[in-house]
Amino acid sequence: MILLNDFKRQWEDCGEAVLDAVRAVGESGWYVLGEEVRQLEAALAALWGRRFCVGVGSGLDAIEIALRALGCGPGDRVVTTPNSAFATTLAIVRVGAVPIFADVDAGGQIDLDQCREILSTRRDVRFLVPVHLYGEPLDPAALAGMREQLGCRIVEDCAQSILARRDGRPAGATGEAAATSFYPTKNLGALGDGGAILTDDAELAEVARQIRDYGQSEKYRHARLGTNSRLDEVHAAILRRAFLPRLDGWTARRRAIAARYRAGIRQARLRIPAAQTEGVGHLFPVLVPATVRAAFRAHLKERGVATGEHYPVPIPDQPAMREVPFEAPRGLARVREFCASEVSLPIHPYLHDDEVERVVEAVNAWGG
Ligand SMILES: *Cc1c(COP(=O)(O)O)cnc(C)c1O
Repeated sequence: MILLNDFKRQWEDCGEAVLDAVRAVGESGWYVLGEEVRQLEAALAALWGRRFCVGVGSGLDAIEIALRALGCGPGDRVVTTPNSAFATTLAIVRVGAVPIFADVDAGGQIDLDQCREILSTRRDVRFLVPVHLYGEPLDPAALAGMREQLGCRIVEDCAQSILARRDGRPAGATGEAAATSFYPTKNLGALGDGGAILTDDAELAEVARQIRDYGQSEKYRHARLGTNSRLDEVHAAILRRAFLPRLDGWTARRRAIAARYRAGIRQARLRIPAAQTEGVGHLFPVLVPATVRAAFRAHLKERGVATGEHYPVPIPDQPAMREVPFEAPRGLARVREFCASEVSLPIHPYLHDDEVERVVEAVNAWGG
């Protein structure tokens, strides 16, 4: 079976380097918020071209803590996308804020024109959490315009877009803060949970550092009510020593696979969303008519190709959202259509060339 992610192959490649990183932490005798976390934070800040990085326990926490550090709290309104991991919206709900969903564009990305309309007509909406979904960078000029002209405060969800660039800017370099995740399936994934906040704002970084560590401003001094969301030394060491040196190669491989799919797939009933040149191929979404999606996925499975759905249910339609207030002022017609049609093909750095060709052939042979 050609898998969506192949962690066994990753371990064959990286296992020794991972064990070396674990050994280094063990020998250091320091396991929480130490030199490894500081060095990973410095490396990620440099990679992103931002001044500060704060390692936290997960991508969910990174978004939530960044929002709290920006002053977002109970009753605040936050524009976001209905097509993402549930965590994007959950972070907003957990700070007590109210999600305002913009609909998506033809590629399933948050519709930035709608965001702008909502932000310019609704003075009570002051925050925006856009997602660079599937590794596709959103338009930085459009985000900068909303920040500068409409005064909204932005936390960019970069869980799927590390190293993505557009118009010379990294995804996540435009808003007040960016949040990313080291969940294993991400482009830079740990062997467990982790996340990070990136920002140029020294005050925001300091508040985020306090919040992740019980709200401490110094040892046993609690300036605010924080939480425990500390990145482990072990994960920081694994990420920096074993995985970060491979990230450029992994990203190049994802891009090559995406290019091969675009060149090789010839299937009349399938549409491939347009892509940016400097996306990072976190996922490879294709669209088929909703009525035949299950048949398409079954066809690929029969030919040994695993597929996914990202995401099968728009966030506002999830049962858990019945418990909380939210708004969708421009409706959800496009996201419902998109979520009913989307199929994700395998794309990960350990796919072999002959497997990529088998995916292309299986897609092209559908309905023959
Ligand atoms: C994975 C993901 C998150 C959540 O990250 P966790 O580390 O799993 O909490 C948030 N947003 C997006 C777009 C994601 O893909």
